[in-house]
Amino acid sequence: EFVEHVEGGPETPGLAHARAAAEPGKEFGGDLVVVTGAGSGIGRATARAFAAAGARVVVADIDEGGAKRTVDEIGAAGGEAHVYRVDVADAEAMERFARYVKDTWGVPDIVVNNAGIALAGSLLETPEEDWERIRSINVDGMYRGSRLFGRQMVERGEGGHIVIVSSLAAFTPSPELPAYGATKAAVLQLAECFRLDMERYGIGVTAVCPGAVDTPITRQTRFVGMAPAVDAELREKMGRAIERRGFPPEKVARAILRAVRQDAAVVPVAVEAHVARTIARVSPAA
Ligand code: NAD
Repeated sequence: EFVEHVEGGPETPGLAHARAAAEPGKEFGGDLVVVTGAGSGIGRATARAFAAAGARVVVADIDEGGAKRTVDEIGAAGGEAHVYRVDVADAEAMERFARYVKDTWGVPDIVVNNAGIALAGSLLETPEEDWERIRSINVDGMYRGSRLFGRQMVERGEGGHIVIVSSLAAFTPSPELPAYGATKAAVLQLAECFRLDMERYGIGVTAVCPGAVDTPITRQTRFVGMAPAVDAELREKMGRAIERRGFPPEKVARAILRAVRQDAAVVPVAVEAHVARTIARVSPAA
């Protein structure tokens, strides 16, 4: 029903060790997980899923109200979560955040760089300030989360896993999404390069590339990210499938947990599994 397409090597040694000790059904028991943008949508669903699997979760978001709701939901379900308000576009705030997490809860075992915004419109109508804003959140934010927590993991020497939430828009040109698509393609490459670098430390890096998911961001861009320039038939198919059964963020969350367990490299995930796989194989130049 949804993609669990996995490419990648063996499980991350550090985490495999930690999980061996965890009780059944709580496979992330004992792990500390940081999720950015966890006050809504995919981030919230991911934070909840990790907490349900036994992890302690740091729910980070610029929207403190949304983050608190996520923490309350996790608490009501018997899980442990903590809220931290941070703007991923603010370099110094991210440094403080990383330090605070380490000093207060410890070095995270898993970091999900998920905070992101959407921006639709022709490049001709994209002013400097909009470009700067989406880049500073969608690219710089993920660079910071990966670098700051990656360094902590390396210094601790017990492995770990870093997830970067890219998008199928990284693979599919759309006249309406030049800025968004560019940021998502940038972090896809960031993830793939960083993965090669972190391998020797037993730290896994995964790029998760969702297609259209039913969250506020998608309603804002009216599903324009669905590959119009690549294949109208595929887009139609995905659009129809979403209308028929929807594609809740919980399914992306499940794919993220699975990707971490299996140390997958690139994970396309969408309502039509084979469509997502096809899109992820299509080079933008094809
Ligand atoms: P969403 O709008 O529901 O949630 C995004 C969260 O990020 C919000 O809580 C928001 O407050 C937070 N955020 C925004 N700017 C921030 C900042 N500067 N600092 C900290 N937090 C910030 O969106 P979503 O659909 O859950 O998207 C999550 C991620 O998934 C994004 O990176 C998005 O690009 C990606 N994605 C979404 C879809 C989709 O169809 N929804 C598809 C592919 C990829």
